[in-house]
Amino acid sequence: MYTLNFNSSETAPEEFQFPKTRRLFKSTFVATTVAACTAASLLLIIAFPIPPINLREELEPGKSSCASRRHCHKSSSSYHKPPSPYLLSVLRDYEQRHKRCEPLTKSFNRSFFQVSSHQPSHVDDDDCSYVVFTRPTNGLGNRMLSMSSAFLYALLTNRVLLVDFGPDMTHLFSEPVPNSTWLFPEDSRFGNRIYGSKVDDFGSLMKNNNNNHTAVLANNSSSFLHVNLGYGYDDYDKLFYSNEVQDGLQKVSWLILKSDQYFVPYLFLMSGFRAKLDRMFPDKETVFHHLGRYLFTPSDQAWGLIARFYDAYLANADERIGLQIRVLDTKASPTALVLKQVLRCAQKEAQILPPLATKQNETATKKLASKKTSYNKAVLVASLSSEFYVELKDMFWKRASASTGSDGEVAVGFHQASHEEVQRSNDGSHNMMAWVDIYLLSLCDVLVTSGWSTFGYVAQGLGGLRPWILQIPDTKYGGGETLWGNACRRAVSMEPCFHFPPSYDGNKVGVRVDGEEGGGSPSVVHCEDVGGGLKLVNV
Ligand code: GDP
Repeated sequence: MYTLNFNSSETAPEEFQFPKTRRLFKSTFVATTVAACTAASLLLIIAFPIPPINLREELEPGKSSCASRRHCHKSSSSYHKPPSPYLLSVLRDYEQRHKRCEPLTKSFNRSFFQVSSHQPSHVDDDDCSYVVFTRPTNGLGNRMLSMSSAFLYALLTNRVLLVDFGPDMTHLFSEPVPNSTWLFPEDSRFGNRIYGSKVDDFGSLMKNNNNNHTAVLANNSSSFLHVNLGYGYDDYDKLFYSNEVQDGLQKVSWLILKSDQYFVPYLFLMSGFRAKLDRMFPDKETVFHHLGRYLFTPSDQAWGLIARFYDAYLANADERIGLQIRVLDTKASPTALVLKQVLRCAQKEAQILPPLATKQNETATKKLASKKTSYNKAVLVASLSSEFYVELKDMFWKRASASTGSDGEVAVGFHQASHEEVQRSNDGSHNMMAWVDIYLLSLCDVLVTSGWSTFGYVAQGLGGLRPWILQIPDTKYGGGETLWGNACRRAVSMEPCFHFPPSYDGNKVGVRVDGEEGGGSPSVVHCEDVGGGLKLVNV
């Protein structure tokens, strides 16, 4: 291990700064990118039909610099609730803090090297403290949801969110705070320190000091702590959600967070955060909608793929329908059965696709066929497999739709942007396709999503849509029958579901959280698709 010996108010030694060539490359790259983006955005303003509405515009009207920033968020048919003035002011403060504390600034170096040299920490108001979202596991949906949760936590605790993506995600998003970076330095000497064996783990600290959790944090001189809030976390990790423990964590400058969960709903159950959250989000179902749209702007590369596809296949339709079909177990949920379920949902229950002509209504259909098509529906099929797209396209091409309208037939076109066949990890281009699909789904007017899928949650949240949630049938549980009796049901809010919240068994390890039994919030309810999960709703 290194022992550092330098004045913590000075800038870091050369060995801890980016090499000069890289810094030069970085600034040249930024200048070139800004120029290219400005030119590209001018072109896209003329060519691309998606209206430019996003939080960046609300924060700095007219200052958006990149093509994707200006154009990526539609306003039509999506949720129109603007962010609260208080949320905007919190974000403005955040941006000031982020710029002051971003990697390799004086404040960053002071905080980082003070920690590394094991000097006792004193987090003053002017000091910078951080939550670092670390090397994620799981798919993109899970990652984006937990990143947005980490961001909300950073806003609530005056921290700065940094991300250590690893190589497979760096090219997906634009920087959320313009002219600034949220990327934790790639240089291994930084990484070695935050992942070093000497860094304490929050859960272990709690376990080893089970009699007094708050005292152990008060006496802890380290300002570096790993926190695990991911699937499979244990009761000691869950102490993170205790108000008293949160007080103790305030003095820890660096929280290194590992999570794959959307833990936002639980923050609303903690009395220490509730008042601020209520002011930030008077409309409870817009939390991810606003935070997601703030954090996740497509990079120019992603935007090119999104814009070209949208323009070619979706832009001119009267209505855009997104079908997100996620099958986790192909044996238990064979294609034919899932397809049946999809059609039952889309045609009968949600009534977003027309029924197809049968022998009985053939005559009426022939009459319709002689008339001009009156209404165009474009259906985007997002799925790892191409089977659903091929089957649906054939079905609606080879048989006429039996529209009961007298003006003409409804034309239904199916489109698929990618079919990656299997889920892959550590693959940047695979993640790019996932991001493109998620974003395209969010641009639809109506969504059918698969239950339990975080991929679908992100799309619905960004799009401001309450989807029809599909229950994927499973032969293990009696074939086509589903628990709900229906193939799908309408979501009660567009918020994602927190799949694995702490149970409310407060006594096990002395957890005292404001859960269901102790003053839960009416805005936090169980999810439609995940019985034990929690989600936010408007009451
Ligand atoms: P979840 O597993 O459904 O909760 O969603 P995640 O996004 O966390 O993980 C699924 C991963 O599988 C995605 O990130 C993609 O890598 C891949 N995937 C699943 N469905 C699709 C899809 O419809 N399109 C694309 N391009 N990738 C998908």
